[in-house]
Amino acid sequence: MSSVSPIQIPSRLPLLLTHEGVLLPGSTMRTSVDTVRNLQLVRSRLLKGTSLQSTILGVIPNTPDPASDTQDLPPLHRIGTAALAVQVVGSNWPKPHYTLLITGLCRFQIIQVLKEKPYPVAEVEQLDRLEEFPNTCKTREELGELSEQFYRYAVQLVEMLDMSVPAVAKLRRLLDSLPREALPDILTSIIRTSNKEKLQILDAVSLEERFKMTIPLLVRQIEGLKLLQKTRKPKQDDDKRVIAIRPIRRITHIPGTLEDEDEDEDNDDIVMLEKKIRTSSMPEQAHKVCVKEIKRLKKMPQSMPEYALTRNYLELMVELPWNKSTTDHLDIRAARILLDNDHYAMEKLKKRVLEYLAVRQLKNNLKGPILCFVGPPGVGKTSVGRSVAKTLGREFHRIALGGVCDQSDIRGHRRTYVGSMPGRIINGLKTVGVNNPVFLLDEVDKLGKSLQGDPAAALLEVLDPEQNHNFTDHYLNVAFDLSQVLFIATANTTATIPPALLDRMEIIQVPGYTQEEKVEIAHRHLIPKQLEQHGLTPQQIQIPQVTTLAIITRYTREAGVRSLDRRFGAVCRAVAVKVAEGQHKEARLGRSDVTEGEGCREHVLEDAKPESISDTADLALPPEMPILIDFHALKDILGPPLYEMEVSERLNQPGVAIGLAWTPLGGKIMFVEASRMDGEGQLTLTGQLGDIMKESAHLAISWLRSNAKKYHLTNAFGSFDLLDNTDIHLHFPAGAVTKDGPSAGVTIVTCLASLFSGRLVRSDVAMTGEITLRGLVLPVGGIKDKVLAAHRAGLKQVIIPQRNEKDLEEIPSNVRQDLNFVPASCLDEVLNAAFDGGFAAKARPGLIDSKL
Ligand code: ADP
Repeated sequence: MSSVSPIQIPSRLPLLLTHEGVLLPGSTMRTSVDTVRNLQLVRSRLLKGTSLQSTILGVIPNTPDPASDTQDLPPLHRIGTAALAVQVVGSNWPKPHYTLLITGLCRFQIIQVLKEKPYPVAEVEQLDRLEEFPNTCKTREELGELSEQFYRYAVQLVEMLDMSVPAVAKLRRLLDSLPREALPDILTSIIRTSNKEKLQILDAVSLEERFKMTIPLLVRQIEGLKLLQKTRKPKQDDDKRVIAIRPIRRITHIPGTLEDEDEDEDNDDIVMLEKKIRTSSMPEQAHKVCVKEIKRLKKMPQSMPEYALTRNYLELMVELPWNKSTTDHLDIRAARILLDNDHYAMEKLKKRVLEYLAVRQLKNNLKGPILCFVGPPGVGKTSVGRSVAKTLGREFHRIALGGVCDQSDIRGHRRTYVGSMPGRIINGLKTVGVNNPVFLLDEVDKLGKSLQGDPAAALLEVLDPEQNHNFTDHYLNVAFDLSQVLFIATANTTATIPPALLDRMEIIQVPGYTQEEKVEIAHRHLIPKQLEQHGLTPQQIQIPQVTTLAIITRYTREAGVRSLDRRFGAVCRAVAVKVAEGQHKEARLGRSDVTEGEGCREHVLEDAKPESISDTADLALPPEMPILIDFHALKDILGPPLYEMEVSERLNQPGVAIGLAWTPLGGKIMFVEASRMDGEGQLTLTGQLGDIMKESAHLAISWLRSNAKKYHLTNAFGSFDLLDNTDIHLHFPAGAVTKDGPSAGVTIVTCLASLFSGRLVRSDVAMTGEITLRGLVLPVGGIKDKVLAAHRAGLKQVIIPQRNEKDLEEIPSNVRQDLNFVPASCLDEVLNAAFDGGFAAKARPGLIDSKL
């Protein structure tokens, strides 16, 4: 008997709970990990641990891990096997799981469980392979006899197998080289034994007992082989091979999990899969690949990681809608009605969408441009996309591209990777189950870039009508025809869309809404939708238009209607509570009361004013219906107003002016502030400005310095050299947001003119425009969004560059009526409009006197 080198396992072991298969010391098995505690164990011990010790686990057999970690641990099997994790293979698809390759080291017994979360850890006692080995049997002689007997049976069994198979020959050699004490465990895991028998062997801590229990198992296997050889004499060679292969599969793969039933089930699945491949309508090339893959699959052992990979692949291939499509039933008149019903305003967008659909109706196979809706969030870009699908009678699928920075997100991973999966396009097709859906590529402007390739480049192939009829996903590795898919893209700004991608798309701008449009959208669409979602009826809640307007102006400041929608959600929730409480109270009031009461209430409803929600709060009786949402109720529900008209407060000292800025989220008003102090002519700029904006500031100062005399602008010491012994600080609030662009030029000039003249800028004026050194005002972009922002903020006058006057046509007439536009071609005109009583260049008599 050769001596065993002692193995000392740690006294605390993390426990891996298994219920399929039993790992015995000296053997290796693969086990699948997909429950919460086991996953945690793999992640924190095996994937993060760096020492050899962290790869030692306690494998507890016959104990299923509960599906969630909030459930208590089931009673643990008393004896387990300390195991070394040799390999971890992970996959995220179809759900996160790992496959572990573990090798059993020795038995242990749980003394006490130390913790259960995030994974169980126990204090353990090592049971075998201790230095004093074996100390449980009576005498060495007796064990010697037992072990000799066992060895003989083992040799007999192995020699009945086909020695030409390398694994069998190796096994024969192992019988001689391995210590005898290790043989019962190893042979039990090789021969055909049930899980129950393996568990008994594991529980047999005493070596004598173990030998005694394993010998009958060996004898049984030998007898079985003899019988088999007798009955199939003619094909003896083949049989040997079959028998030989079987135990060998068990050596390398999960012993015990390959129960006959499972195998049969799997075989059935494969037959089904094969049948599906045969009957599927996939193109010839794809069909060929599938046939080849299924042939490989049939030869593969099931516990190989590649088996699951290939099977998933084939399942995807048969599920894909190669030839399945919905029929378009497009009626332009119906489409117009549907678009109008679903969306208020956005005329330009609806018009272009209808044109697009009309051309599609006339020419079926349209290789037209991809539509790209560009506008601030919450203006209905996605919902128009959904309506397009509805009008065409097509399936709709949204692919969110925000933050995608890996091209395999679009084009899939090659199948050589473990955990590889198809890209979002192919996945989307699988989800919708037809090959002509409407795909909404949401937020194409937020595609990222990384070392894993440029997803925008991958999108080019998807969107190009010349190429996309044979789009090849890396995972599929065969071409899929995307030409029937209708792609619509959305973005907040075109600035960050890669130019090549932009080139393939037709941009349709969707500007923000005016307050009046928002009120209409709220009453036609948002409120009814929210009522339905909260189970309320118009008989229970009444939101007058003034309340809506108050929510728009005081609780939201956005170009779209998304947070407005959320506010209505909050209102509806609060009312739902009141209504539900009311029903409860009504029920408590008793039957007779209620019937009487109902008669009376009908009268009340007719002429009494409905009560506000705040008034009803403390009433013992149920609230009067409908519950009216007035301004008080609004304050109760939404809290104090978030936005007040702060404009006049901020403009009460010189050196402040209101500019208009364009952002991807819509237009915004921006307060530009300036102050001066003693110094050496330095200009400090704060507020995260880009280069162009810094240049505008320098331009503004230079222009003012050169015109200081003309406008009688002086520094604190009365000098026309404005920077003489003076520092200037310009600040653009919301310092965390990066700002750039030339359009703040006029605002900076006005703000500095106010600072140096000591006069206040009019508090109801906002402005935008680029400046030149000579004092001209140049046109800028985003006029509509900017004007809407000024209107939202309650301003009255907007100074715009004269050459932008044509853009005013886009602005809804009610906004145009509310605002006074001052087109300016030079800074003179800007300053005149920005200050009460003008800012004319005038020679002050006193000054001239002194000069004379
Ligand atoms: P986006 O994609 O532009 O960010 P969404 O399409 O998600 O915005 O729109 C947000 C919500 O606002 C949706 O519930 C949508 O129905 C509603 N909505 C936006 N604009 C309109 C409109 N013009 N008419 C009706 N509902 C609208």
